[in-house]
Amino acid sequence: MTGTRPAVQRIDTTRPHPARVYDWFLGGKDNYPVDEELGRRIEAIDQGAARAARANRAFMHRATRALAADGVRQFLDIGTGIPTEPNLHRIAQSAAPDARVVYVDNDPIVLAHAGALLRGTPEGVTEYVQADARDPDTILERAGAVLDLGRPVALSLIALLHFVADDDGAHTLVSTLVDALAPGSCLVLSTLTADFEPEHVREGVAAYAAGGVTLVARTRTEVTAFFDGLDLLDPGVVPVDGWRPGEATAERGPVSLYGGVGRKP
Ligand code: SAH
Repeated sequence: MTGTRPAVQRIDTTRPHPARVYDWFLGGKDNYPVDEELGRRIEAIDQGAARAARANRAFMHRATRALAADGVRQFLDIGTGIPTEPNLHRIAQSAAPDARVVYVDNDPIVLAHAGALLRGTPEGVTEYVQADARDPDTILERAGAVLDLGRPVALSLIALLHFVADDDGAHTLVSTLVDALAPGSCLVLSTLTADFEPEHVREGVAAYAAGGVTLVARTRTEVTAFFDGLDLLDPGVVPVDGWRPGEATAERGPVSLYGGVGRKP
């Protein structure tokens, strides 16, 4: 049959992809043996890796809920990942049914599963854009067709920036996006650090590198620099499980991801 989905055909199953390894850590089914192999290698190095992925997801839930409760109605989520319920639009639209959400990822497997990201409320809007975070101008142009960039937007870069090195444009992409947003907009981000488990993280970074994936760990000072010019909301840049924890969790142990939320004055 002709007309099969071209996005599916472009999925490279010969090497691990960040979105699919992360999906494996979350217990998803949209990953391949190469992804599972890297996931298992990381797990052998750091038994807390899957817990960190869950803690990161929970941070996304809490930060999104907090901003929706604060009146933010537009969300731009870059590095969305393979759909994992509840996705960001589900959280935002359950607080505010009219919330408008634009998802962005550069991995064809996310595009292939984007259907699950587009089932939102009738009052709201959800849209998916296939683009690279290192091309913020294209993202702003495409997002601007759906969001009113003259009004506040919550920009989320959750577990994205550790895949973009500083010399590959990590700071430029953040500043270009933030500069284009209206006052009252917020930056939500989480990213890898080696501050707590330096050996595990160093070995993990090496395992990703062996799989052809760049992974960058940043110090708290380096992560805080992404919020330059923004007002950091309480409690500042902290391990993701410590950002306004509210829901009881039985999970214990260090989480090597910093998270924070800043508001544009
Ligand atoms: N934000 C989700 C998924 C994190 S996994 C969550 O926190 O639960 C990281 C995602 O970033 C993957 O889906 C990967 O494909 C995407 N990604 C990595 N580099 C990217 C880039 N340069 N541009 C766009 N997306 C990217």
